[in-house]
Amino acid sequence: MNYKNEQMEEEKVFKDTVHRYVRVKDRVIWDLIATPEFQRLRRIKQLGTTYLTFHGAEHSRFNHSLGVYEIVRRMIQKIENNPKWNKEERLLALSAALLHDLGHGPFSHSFEKVFQLDHEVYTREIILGDTSVNQILSRVEEGFPEKVAAVIEKTYKDKLVVSLISSQIDADRMDYLQRDAYYTGVSYGHFDMERILRVMRPVEDQVVIKSTGMHAVEDYIMSRYQMYWQVYFHPVTRSAEVILTKIFHRAKHLYANGYHFKQTPVHLLSFFTGNVCLKDYLKLDEAFVYSYFHEWQEEEDFILSDLCERFMNRRLFKYIEFPPGQQKRWERLKHLFKEADIDPNYYLVNDSSSDLPYDVYRAGEEARVPIFLQMPNGELKELSEHSTIVDAITGKTRTDHKLYYPKDFIEHIEDISLKQEIKSLLNGN
Ligand code: ZN
Repeated sequence: MNYKNEQMEEEKVFKDTVHRYVRVKDRVIWDLIATPEFQRLRRIKQLGTTYLTFHGAEHSRFNHSLGVYEIVRRMIQKIENNPKWNKEERLLALSAALLHDLGHGPFSHSFEKVFQLDHEVYTREIILGDTSVNQILSRVEEGFPEKVAAVIEKTYKDKLVVSLISSQIDADRMDYLQRDAYYTGVSYGHFDMERILRVMRPVEDQVVIKSTGMHAVEDYIMSRYQMYWQVYFHPVTRSAEVILTKIFHRAKHLYANGYHFKQTPVHLLSFFTGNVCLKDYLKLDEAFVYSYFHEWQEEEDFILSDLCERFMNRRLFKYIEFPPGQQKRWERLKHLFKEADIDPNYYLVNDSSSDLPYDVYRAGEEARVPIFLQMPNGELKELSEHSTIVDAITGKTRTDHKLYYPKDFIEHIEDISLKQEIKSLLNGN
C-alpha cells in the first residue's frame, strides 16, 4: 500500500477533554504528530496571557490542533458518501486541519506585533521548508505540501475542503470555542456540535446547514459572541498583553541602543535585528521567553526589570474606559506622567479590541462566506434572513477602548498636586 493510504494496524486514540477521543488511523497523520515542529506546539499556550485572568486556561496549541483534526475527521465521516465530496481529498483535509496553526510562536499576539512577524507566513515556511513535516508531506505525493499550504491559506481550488477548516462555521472555531470554554471554566461557549455535524450538507463548493438545524447554529454564533467579550477581550488579559508587548519593546529598544544585558538574550538577537531564519523561529517557545523574563527582573534598566516583575507576579496595570476623541486629556496625561517621572511610552497605553460576530458578504469588502440554510424545498437562504437572533448582531462591529496604567506608581507620586491632577484626569474629571 502506498504511504498516502497507509492505515495503521491498530487505531491510535488520544483521550481528549472536549471530544473525549481523538482517533488516528492514517500513518501520515501519526507521523506528522510525532515531528518536532508539531510537538513544539505543546510548549505554546492556546490563549497566551489568558491564564492570568482564568487560571485554568493553560491548554496548548497542540491540544487545539488535535481537536480541529478530530472535528474534520468526523465531518468527513458525515459527508463522505455525498457525491459532492471528493474522497481523494480526505488526507489533504486532515493534514491541513492538523497543521493549520503550526506557525504560531510564543504569545503570538504581542510577539508578532513588536517583531513584525506573521504566524501564517511561518506556517507556510514550516510546511514547505527544510523540516520533518515537509519530509512527511513530500512522501505522500508530489506537490502535496503545496496543497496543504494552499488549503490553510484558503487558495486551494476545491473550496469545499477549505470551508471545513476556515469559514464562518468551521472546525477551527468549533474546536477553540468549546476548548477555551472548558479550560477557562466559563459557562458560555458551549453548543451542540454533534447536532451541527449531523445537519451539515455539502452543496456546490461549501457546507450548508439543513434548516432544521438552525437553532444549533444560532447557539454557536451566540457562544462565539459571548466568548469574545467574556474571555478573549477580557480587560485583565489585555492588561497582561499590554505589559508583555512593552517588555518586548523595551528589550528591543535597549539592544538597539547598545545596552549591556547582564545575560545576553542569545535566542532573541535575530528577532531584535530582524534577521530571523526558520531555525531560530522553531527554537523559540514560551519556556525560553519566561526564562528571559526571569533573568530580566534583575536587570539594571528599571523599566525592563519592573515590567518583567509585573508580568511574572501578575502585578498588572489598572484600566479605565477611554473612548476615542479625547486628544487633550490624553496629551495632558502624557505630559503629567513625564512630570512624575513615569515614562508614558511604557506606562500609559491606549488599547482597543473589536469583533464582528457574524457577517454576510457585501460587495467591495473582503469576502466572508455567509452561512446558508437549506430549506425543505432545497432552496438556500442566508442565515440572518431567517434567524432574528443572528440578524440582530449581523455586521455590527463592537469596539471597546481602554486606557492602561500602573495605579501603584500614581499612588507613590510625592508631589500632591501633581498626583491629584493625574488622578482626577484618570477619573474623567
Ligand atoms: Zn486554530
